[in-house]
Amino acid sequence: MQGLMQSWPLRVSNIIDHANNFHGDREIVTRSVEGPIVRTTYAQIHLRARKVAQALARLGIGEGDVVATMCWNNARHMEVWYGIMGLGAVCHTLNPRLFPEQLSYIANHAEDKYIFLDTTFVPVLEAIEDTLPKVRGFVFMTDRAHMPATKLKNVICYEELIGPEDGDFRWAQVDENTACGLCYTSGTTGNPKGVLYSHRSNVLHAMAVNNGDALGMRSVDSMLPVVPMFHANAWGITFAAPAVGAKLVMPGAKMDGESIYELLDTEKVTATAAVPTVWLMLLHYLEATGKQLPYLDRVVIGGSAAPRYMVEAFERNYGVKVFHAWGMTEMSPLGSLGSLKGGMEDWPLEKQIDVKVKQGRAPFTVEMKITDDEGRSLPHDGKAFGHLKVRGPAIARSYMKGEGGNILDEEGWFDTGDIATLDSYGYMQITDRAKDVIKSGGEWISSIEIENIAVGHPKVTEAAVIGIFHPKWDERPLLIVVPKEGETVTREEILAYLEGKIAKWWTPDDVVFIEEIPHTATGKIQKLTLREIFRDYRLPSVDAAE
Ligand code: AMP
Repeated sequence: MQGLMQSWPLRVSNIIDHANNFHGDREIVTRSVEGPIVRTTYAQIHLRARKVAQALARLGIGEGDVVATMCWNNARHMEVWYGIMGLGAVCHTLNPRLFPEQLSYIANHAEDKYIFLDTTFVPVLEAIEDTLPKVRGFVFMTDRAHMPATKLKNVICYEELIGPEDGDFRWAQVDENTACGLCYTSGTTGNPKGVLYSHRSNVLHAMAVNNGDALGMRSVDSMLPVVPMFHANAWGITFAAPAVGAKLVMPGAKMDGESIYELLDTEKVTATAAVPTVWLMLLHYLEATGKQLPYLDRVVIGGSAAPRYMVEAFERNYGVKVFHAWGMTEMSPLGSLGSLKGGMEDWPLEKQIDVKVKQGRAPFTVEMKITDDEGRSLPHDGKAFGHLKVRGPAIARSYMKGEGGNILDEEGWFDTGDIATLDSYGYMQITDRAKDVIKSGGEWISSIEIENIAVGHPKVTEAAVIGIFHPKWDERPLLIVVPKEGETVTREEILAYLEGKIAKWWTPDDVVFIEEIPHTATGKIQKLTLREIFRDYRLPSVDAAE
């Protein structure tokens, strides 16, 4: 027997309609590319998104076409994002930090018809225009007065494009499983692969994000997503915030400590989300200036592991709740978030922080398990670690155009490529990427754990651990350290600091110092590059053994 409830397709256009109908005057504040802080509302975004859809239709774009953006987090980006999706087309967010060859591969693979770009990125696209024969035009996201000189051909001024439209547009009444968003993974091996989100998956994901134990946004919140819309949909925030009418504060191009602090303060931000490197810059700024964070209630840290000292600094020094989150582009991206469970609120802070440094627990709609190499489930005891596998309605079942073949097992599980533990409370902790674990004497050493402890040393800014060949143990850990500016620190000081904090046999065989650790386009440590840099490195323990 069928239920007798309405069939109401889960489309992202319903989200922006809802924001317009019930939160029309709620603000979206942007640090604009042109410089000043610009204020708009959900009602304005709703109107201008419909103008974008009309203008695109006039340019011949329709259902199923792919239109790209290369923009910071700002209000115009939101308009274009909802305009493209509302037209039934696919909004492809390009990450400007990728190498030119990757960008050109991605834009061609996706068959982008137009690219909407912030003027900051004109040089990025000028460098690859010749490789993009299928792109019909470049829309500069500004008004006539701010149009820069360019070598690009077929350039359109955004304000002139949408200016003549009246906004009288009915969103495409597409099936909820229709594609609406596209984001390529920054995969460390092989070509990037496209993750094609549907209206349904994005709506369900927004609802999961707004779950009280996840980001739990409400209308009273002022939310600052530092995480870019081109990095896995700003972790779903640009869907989740309008769904509840939360104020949005968009940082544009400036993510340094002072600029972020200024927005947190002047816009009375209550919730914010970014990768650890952004929070590192903010914490340095706060330390240097003695400033506090009186309005901020919670900070979400994800994309890479949040080190313990960072969680402690926010919680102890600034009274800000930390939610450590984990996810992947393939998961829309939220996979887990570390809010406390009932009963834990009375625990001493130290014990709560033990929980908060883990990557958190799965919200409803994410199924999660860990398995051994043979696919057998491992116990949830916080000790056994294995392959982290996930299932759910906002998780990819295939990459665009079938690249990479079948990515699910017979039971529909997706192997995340991460190695993790799950404890009896349901909290997951990542120990490594499967590719990065250090195999020493048949046992595994977690590079992430050593890195997170090393960055707690007061003279260290960043640390990375890689496995180096060892004739006896197979691999042994090498700790690579970036000292804080103006500080000198020795190998012995670092090793003494690690003593007692990790198992003795995990102690790195050597510590080396470099000026900068290479990062991927989404801010992760580039272990592959580090392994190349240190390919011929010989550990002193090898020399000693010979
Ligand atoms: P991406 O799809 O580019 O966001 O990368 C996803 C990958 O980032 C995951 O598979 C993890 O390896 C890593 N990652 C994301 N969040 C965390 C976290 N909180 N701790 C450790 N690794 C993380």
